Amino acid sequence: MGTPAKASHAIHRRARAGLLIGLVACARSGPSAPETPSNVVALGDVRVAVHTSHTANLFHAVDQISAWSPFCHSQYSKWAPSLDDKEATDALQRHAELRREKGWGSGIERTFYLEDGANASEEEKRILHVLSFRLDDKLKRGDAQAKKLEDALRGESAAFARFSKNVLAFVEVPPPRDPIPMVFVPSPGRGVGGGGANGGVVVVEIPEEGGVKSTLTTVAHELVHALMKPRLPELTEAAARCGHGLDQTVEGEAIAYAIAPGILAYGESAGALERQRDRNARDSSYGRFVRLAIAIRPLVREMLQRPRHDALRAVLDATCEAAKEYEWSTADQP
Ligand SMILES: [Zn+2]
Repeated sequence: MGTPAKASHAIHRRARAGLLIGLVACARSGPSAPETPSNVVALGDVRVAVHTSHTANLFHAVDQISAWSPFCHSQYSKWAPSLDDKEATDALQRHAELRREKGWGSGIERTFYLEDGANASEEEKRILHVLSFRLDDKLKRGDAQAKKLEDALRGESAAFARFSKNVLAFVEVPPPRDPIPMVFVPSPGRGVGGGGANGGVVVVEIPEEGGVKSTLTTVAHELVHALMKPRLPELTEAAARCGHGLDQTVEGEAIAYAIAPGILAYGESAGALERQRDRNARDSSYGRFVRLAIAIRPLVREMLQRPRHDALRAVLDATCEAAKEYEWSTADQP
């Protein structure tokens, strides 16, 4: 934890320890293990690089509280400063304006989630400085929760190794060469944390209260997105061929939800697809993701258990069929 500067220092120190272990392994049995920085969690052939920093925590909270995009997560309003606090509300409003101007993926995400924010504009730095006084107490608790989630992931590394192998076989993609960066940030409340790819950076939100095990489901869900990435152009093509309201996002979410929490679910996220279906209107984004996920889940399960060539194509065809039926049944609604 701590600032990125401290983190990179710690990684450097631990990398040397890793080399020592590698040499011992070499003396005992054949090839040496590659160096593994301490923030990297090996899940078989897939590796995840866990990033945590105060800068990332603060930026994420401010970004979500400002609600600049419909994809911001509403639970963060719990941490919003009082409306009487003019300095803070002005700063949030300005942040929202700046974000709307540039949109997702402008590079600001990488600057704050994976780097130390030094490359950001002076105005953006000032905004975060104003809000850090209001949020730091809430964010502090996140460090311990992030550590718990990292430990939980290490504890489940064998299950996640099998899971990643099955997903890669299903989508017919080799393991990524580099560790997948995953930023752990705190979130208000309890239960299963949210997640998302914010401007190409995978972010996992960890609730400030209670256990973290259920949030492993979010890690699994985000891993599916990351591992499936090389096949995104085919998702786009399949969506265009099918029509019926599909696009790359809907296709990707239907598959990722069918797998986690649809097939792999920890703790209270078991049964989450059905609960989300009952909670979200048919014509809402989430309502549609989970209904399609439920429809394709049996085939996805089969393809994960017994992968075959073109398994993804078969699932995309099934998603199209489900989208057609879905559209008809939606049209029947009063
Ligand atoms: Zn997703």
